[in-house]
Amino acid sequence: ALESRGVHAWFGDRLVLEDVSLAMPAHEVTALIGPSGCGKSTFLRILNRMHELVPSASLAGEVLLDGADIYAEGTRAQHARLRIGMVFQKPNPFPAMSIRDNVLAGLKLAGVKCGDKDGLVEQSLERAGLWREVRDRLHSPGGALSGGQQQRLCIARSLAVQPNVLLMDEPCSALDPTSTRRIEQTIVEISDEVTVVIVTHNMQQAQRVSHHCAFFLAGENEPGRVVEHGSTEQIFGEPEDSRTHDYVNGRF
Ligand code: ATP
Ligand code: MG
Repeated sequence: ALESRGVHAWFGDRLVLEDVSLAMPAHEVTALIGPSGCGKSTFLRILNRMHELVPSASLAGEVLLDGADIYAEGTRAQHARLRIGMVFQKPNPFPAMSIRDNVLAGLKLAGVKCGDKDGLVEQSLERAGLWREVRDRLHSPGGALSGGQQQRLCIARSLAVQPNVLLMDEPCSALDPTSTRRIEQTIVEISDEVTVVIVTHNMQQAQRVSHHCAFFLAGENEPGRVVEHGSTEQIFGEPEDSRTHDYVNGRF
């Protein structure tokens, strides 16, 4: 499981996240929801040590992956990013690189050796729901795929390094409904093996794919906090906080 404890985040001297403690159970999907600017993407980047790539950024608190703090002294950021993959809103394959090499690109960056590359490419594309569409053109450039296919290619690239966790920041918000449903299907399927944390503004999507939801909110000139978290059923069906109720019912 992935767990944050007392996470605070700053950009310069501005606190943008306050005391976020959240358990994201293994092999389940957790959705992070909340209005724009409440710190969802910042929190996601903290979960795989990408936050520290922003020069003005700092943080406090702990992130535990299977009980071990990914920020513990002597732990390399690269190691955390290998075990905790990320997919972004805008698909970002290497456009001139072949589909096959895109899938293998994460391994190369990580310096991981793989005996059966063809097998891994097939398996990763299959899990991302793209194999059937690209099996006959693995050597065409990644940039020649449609937006929805490119996003599935990025998911395959993340899965190829066999991460424990996959973080997804609005992975479908740039995509058409058909691609969106395919990716939702993939999310549900991979959550058997991979812990998924997804940021989404689409409340139907949160209900379709997630087991748990956390509602983030930031007041005016105040940092983002988790107002409420629980099972997706509870957050949508019987939220405890009236602000959660208003948000999930589109009144925000
Ligand atoms: P959205 O739903 O619009 O994607 P979000 O919940 O993902 O919003 P974040 O992008 O995490 O929100 O931003 C949280 C706060 O941190 C915002 O006030 C934002 O302006 C600020 N912020 C984000 N990135 C940076 C940065 N690189 N430098 C300074 N401030 C930043
Ligand atoms: Mg965001």
